[in-house]
Amino acid sequence: MKSRILIIEDNPANLELMRYLLNAFGHATVETVDGEAGLGRARSDRPDLILCDIALPKLDGYGVAAALKADPASRNIPLIAVSASAMMSDRQRAVDAGFDGFITKPIDPESFVASVETYLRDVTSGDTRT
Ligand code: MN
Repeated sequence: MKSRILIIEDNPANLELMRYLLNAFGHATVETVDGEAGLGRARSDRPDLILCDIALPKLDGYGVAAALKADPASRNIPLIAVSASAMMSDRQRAVDAGFDGFITKPIDPESFVASVETYLRDVTSGDTRT
């Protein structure tokens, strides 16, 4: 199953890399570069999964998570933090804010898509890779 994945990331190089890798594995991407726009796209597009940076303009990742998880319409969309903050306290704060998972930057091209697909399989039946 090909998925539609929303990427909320303000760093152009990271955004480009995530888009490239996901597209290479057959997933479609929608992209925004700030938290407010990301929230809007999440609500209008209903993606299968959301990848979200923590440090973002306008509304940070914690704010995005709080808003998405407070809304029954978006609560069940897997929401994955993608952040360079690898300390356990940062991961805990992300979980507390409502994130369902955490992928650490720098993004590892060898394992990134497999990690994302793990979160897709958590909520869908069957194999997500065609
Ligand atoms: Mn950022």
